[in-house]
Amino acid sequence: VGNSANSSTRHPAVVVGAGPVGLSSALALRSLGLPVTVLEAEPADRGRPGSRAIYVHGTTLRLLESIHPGLGWQMAEGGISWRTKRTYVRGREVFARTYPPPRTAALPPFTSIPQVQTESILLDACKSADVELVWDARVETVKVTADGVTLATSSGDEWRADYVVGADGARSAVRGAVGITMEGSRSVNHYVIVDVAEDPGDPMPVERVFHYEHPAVGRRNVLLAPFAGGWRADLQCREDDDPEQFASPDGVKRWIAATIGERYADRVTWVSTYQFLQVLASSYTDQLRRVLLVGEAAHLFAPFGARGMNSGIVDGEAAATAIHRALTADDDRAARRAVEDFAVTRREAGAYNRDAAAQALDHLRASGPAARLKRRLAAEIARVYTPAGEWLDRAPYGPTGAPPSGSPTRY
Ligand SMILES: Cc1cc2nc3c(=O)[nH]c(=O)nc-3n(C[C@H](O)[C@H](O)[C@H](O)COP(=O)(O)OP(=O)(O)OC[C@H]3O[C@@H](n4cnc5c(N)ncnc54)[C@H](O)[C@@H]3O)c2cc1C
Repeated sequence: VGNSANSSTRHPAVVVGAGPVGLSSALALRSLGLPVTVLEAEPADRGRPGSRAIYVHGTTLRLLESIHPGLGWQMAEGGISWRTKRTYVRGREVFARTYPPPRTAALPPFTSIPQVQTESILLDACKSADVELVWDARVETVKVTADGVTLATSSGDEWRADYVVGADGARSAVRGAVGITMEGSRSVNHYVIVDVAEDPGDPMPVERVFHYEHPAVGRRNVLLAPFAGGWRADLQCREDDDPEQFASPDGVKRWIAATIGERYADRVTWVSTYQFLQVLASSYTDQLRRVLLVGEAAHLFAPFGARGMNSGIVDGEAAATAIHRALTADDDRAARRAVEDFAVTRREAGAYNRDAAAQALDHLRASGPAARLKRRLAAEIARVYTPAGEWLDRAPYGPTGAPPSGSPTRY
């Protein structure tokens, strides 16, 4: 769908941003019978970097299936579900588990698929659900009044909407325009994250492997996770490391050869260095309850536990439900309350997810002597006491409980 200036038409809902969260929000709005327009800053033929969100939880697959029948299955079939996980401490295996094959009649417990593929599947679903997609439409100004929102894009086009979903990512212009700030902290260590293409002639076993203190990389932690078509390798730098030492072309080759194998050193397709932000928007809606923030416009978490995109998709579904309620409410008070309920429950979920990811980061960092001792003791007794190995295997991803949002989903 090409650009169409729409200042005279009033839209019930406009979504800003065609990332995975904006596209899911649009599908959720369509599933409630609402017309929806998505404004995306970038062109339709853009390339998106790296695997990023590979781990898609089963709850997310079920949610996508419910808002667009067939979508959860398409995602599951596009990805892979590894069944074996292993954890090592200083090169010695302390835990291994292989799950039985998932039941073929039900969606799998998770799927591992590069984010670029997820976005392509979501985009096709949006097209088939008659979502209007407007590319090259960078939103620059957002004016909110008691009865609606006017958006202006860089091309000078104006869009009027009853409600706006701000899904424009970490540097959200929508969030900035309505004066909402981000609050939180940043991880101390750097992490170097690398994608490696699978060698089809000599594939590796499809297993998720976590190494505490890998002996071949100076006792740094390393996570190896397969996805459809490749591997994610994630190295935790020490606090006093220069991350470039591990992110430079030669540096990457060295540690990939040492952890995955020589033959993978030349198969690196993406390298990225992070200090993870752990931040939440001060509010998920504006004063006038017309703008709803979702996904990375509302929160940023360290990726351990795979909460970013997964919880963003839940935000999007909750925002769509709130907008539908507000549009069909008997009066303004009820409409405002629908949006406020969304903002409060999803911010609570965001706080839960941020704290859960913080627990994972603390565990990985093991900065104090008590934390290091606990890890060493667990590694010692894991040979005879399985729960110790289970804890070592689970702890890098944080707790697995549900946020206090009243939502049936886990994120
Ligand atoms: C290394 C790494 C690993 C990760 N692993 C996982 C994982 O396993 N599972 C998981 O759930 N999450 C994971 N995440 C997080 C996940 O990648 C993000 O949560 C996800 O991309 C957020 O999606 P989004 O749609 O909110 O934002 P984005 O993907 O950033 O999309 C925002 C969109 O808005 C557009 N835009 C920006 N500004 C404007 C504007 N002014 N006007 C119009 N459009 C605009 C952008 O072009 C973009 O298309 C990971 C992240 C990283 C970095």
